Amino acid sequence: MKRAYNFGAGPATIPTEVLEIVQKELIDFKDSGISIMEASHRSKLYDDVHESAIGNIRELYKLPDDFEVLFLQGGASMQFAMAPLNLYEGGKVQYANTGAWSKKAIKEAQIQGIEPEIVATSQESNFDHIPEVNFDDDCDYTYITSNNTIYGTQYREFPSTASPLVVDASSDLFSYAIDWNKIDLLFGGAQKNAGPSGVTIVIVRKNLLDRVKDSVPTMLRYKTHADSNSLFNTPPTFGIYILNLVLEWIKSKGGIGAIDKLNREKAKILYDAIDNSGGFYVGHAQKDSRSLMNVSFNIKDKDAKLEAQLLEEASKANMIGLKGHRSIGGLRASIYNAMSKEGVEALVELMQEFAKKHN
Ligand SMILES: *Cc1c(COP(=O)(O)O)cnc(C)c1O
Repeated sequence: MKRAYNFGAGPATIPTEVLEIVQKELIDFKDSGISIMEASHRSKLYDDVHESAIGNIRELYKLPDDFEVLFLQGGASMQFAMAPLNLYEGGKVQYANTGAWSKKAIKEAQIQGIEPEIVATSQESNFDHIPEVNFDDDCDYTYITSNNTIYGTQYREFPSTASPLVVDASSDLFSYAIDWNKIDLLFGGAQKNAGPSGVTIVIVRKNLLDRVKDSVPTMLRYKTHADSNSLFNTPPTFGIYILNLVLEWIKSKGGIGAIDKLNREKAKILYDAIDNSGGFYVGHAQKDSRSLMNVSFNIKDKDAKLEAQLLEEASKANMIGLKGHRSIGGLRASIYNAMSKEGVEALVELMQEFAKKHN
């Protein structure tokens, strides 16, 4: 069996141990004679999985009781619209614009007739850092993207504000401990750091659920899904099942603290290789904004020919998904929770040999 080191940004690598469990349980789930994906979402068989997934999120994230965990569909992109639909009350709204995903979120608010204030941006330097963000305390809501998947930048600390803070954490879910005093709504598609595509995880403070206007369609209200424990309609059951296995896997590794530590070690190995390459590799992000999840870089002088050659050599060595996002080019190594240290070390070895040959 061939198993590649998959550095793709998303859908992304899932722990092999998890896929092996899925494979083993696929046809006959827990001696039921059916697959979990054939089970009614109202059955005990599925309900145990559903409750386990919610419980594991609460446990891993040390989530206070005044938050709801929701499993929705439509991806993070749906949340760009749902957050304003549920939180906007006609007042002030502030966003930080740290890249393509922030921009899309801002656009969805504008479509709803909201005029968000962009209080901070790093657009003028092609989003190579997280700017200082100061939100007012009297906003309907404020908004950040915690990890910028394309540019490879990440907040070290969330802004403090008395206004509700919305966080798009699509590409750094379950990778570090969160201070829930600072956050009111956090969301992300599972397909980068938490499982397969099709499940969107939403964590929302309960006191925000009643804001929603009567004109908002039933399915687009957080309250609908909170009141029905994400079982208002059929949830993405198979995706939630795999998400739950990924959460169990994180627990088996020692929880979020241990994963965070490992992520820091992995990122250091890769960033050190870039920094010690004598300028052959050039990172996109400024050092104090570097993402632990997505490492975006170029070869010196943005040499597209050499970059293509490195991609090809990587592919031959069973390392895939390293092409940078089309909007900035170059290379990007996504080193999410499920990427092993061995994978990062193999990549660094290849990069060092390549640099030696071509420098
Ligand atoms: C991938 C990504 C999205 C879009 O997610 P979908 O689930 O495809 O809608 C949004 N925000 C960030 C930060 C992302 O990385």
